[in-house]
Amino acid sequence: MATVRLHHLHKSYDRGKTMAVKDVSLEIADGEFMALLGPSGCGKSSTMRMIAGLEELSGGEIWFNDTLMNRIPPKGRNVAMVFESYALYPTLSVYENLAFPLRSAGKPLDEIERRVREIVGILQCEDLLQLKPANLSSGQSQLVGLGRALMRQPNVFIMDEPISHLDTRLRSRMRSYIKRLHIELGYTMLYVTHDQEEAMALADRIAIMDVGQVVQIGTPGEVFHQPASRYVAGFVGEPPMNFLECQTEQNGGSPSLSYKGHPIPWGSSEHTRAAGQVPRDVVVGIRPFYVSLAGERSASHNVPAEVFVVEPMGDTTVVTVKAEDTRIQIVGEQKMRVNSGEVLWLGFDPAHLLLFDKDTGLRLG
Ligand code: ADP
Ligand code: MG
Repeated sequence: MATVRLHHLHKSYDRGKTMAVKDVSLEIADGEFMALLGPSGCGKSSTMRMIAGLEELSGGEIWFNDTLMNRIPPKGRNVAMVFESYALYPTLSVYENLAFPLRSAGKPLDEIERRVREIVGILQCEDLLQLKPANLSSGQSQLVGLGRALMRQPNVFIMDEPISHLDTRLRSRMRSYIKRLHIELGYTMLYVTHDQEEAMALADRIAIMDVGQVVQIGTPGEVFHQPASRYVAGFVGEPPMNFLECQTEQNGGSPSLSYKGHPIPWGSSEHTRAAGQVPRDVVVGIRPFYVSLAGERSASHNVPAEVFVVEPMGDTTVVTVKAEDTRIQIVGEQKMRVNSGEVLWLGFDPAHLLLFDKDTGLRLG
């Protein structure tokens, strides 16, 4: 296994017309599970294909431990790569499909047997060994494909949206197998997804991409609680973070915050410390879990809002309201009784307000 280091990686297509990857630097520790998260077209697959040696670099360096990989062909890199679709050999049994990579590498029979049993044990699919691919469900094929990619011990194990086409239930099951594989095998893993929930659930750290660039690298907790920008804050978390265009004012030592003239209680020590640098126009971010509704106006609930829709989710209720012209979502208790059309008062937990620069989108303070 290897530490993977990407050093100022660039990739352009069509003689520079499409800049797919722009100055990406990233270090993935030996045995780490790193997710690359971003919307479709942001350069995730291009980055992975360069690591695997399937795509030429337009600039930068790729290192596995102390070896520069730029000129090493794919075969010499020992990267295992799993995509959305696996082509299993149709005439071979599951056992033979799994054994294939080791057989073709000329490994002894007892080693092949041991390895197949190990992988099948982790994936809990002993009962499939004698079946042919035609008799497998899509989830089972996926599992076997995953297993086959793992047979040889790779330097790096890359998965590019491996389960995004499966239905929700199967996806969450496959997700737990993938996490378990990492725990048991300890490979250096790079996992590409556009699904923030998948990245949060699986990875030790997440690198978030936006149009060819990595905009934040952090643990799931860090990108969720300390997003570097409005973009990251809005991408991670479901329902997504709410954003309100607000104004700040300095009255003596204590700064105040208002949304279209409605005061919003603010002033935790962090904000007060940061207030010296806070511009007048800011974007306030708050997660749906930290917004509450009240029937009466009060010091804590000062912003009027009309209930747009109420969605009962079982344990919780998701309420969407309109405050002036902004749509805001609230995750509340299951027993919350509100109806569409009602006018209520919004409260924002002051300890969970994040402030972003209105122009750059960067987090303030
Ligand atoms: P992602 O995997 O995040 O969806 P990609 O790396 O596939 O992103 O693509 C990044 C950008 O590069 C996109 O604009 C895409 O259209 C473009 N692109 C990818 N592959 C090629 C290619 N072979 N030729 C030209 N443009 C490409
Ligand atoms: Mg892709």
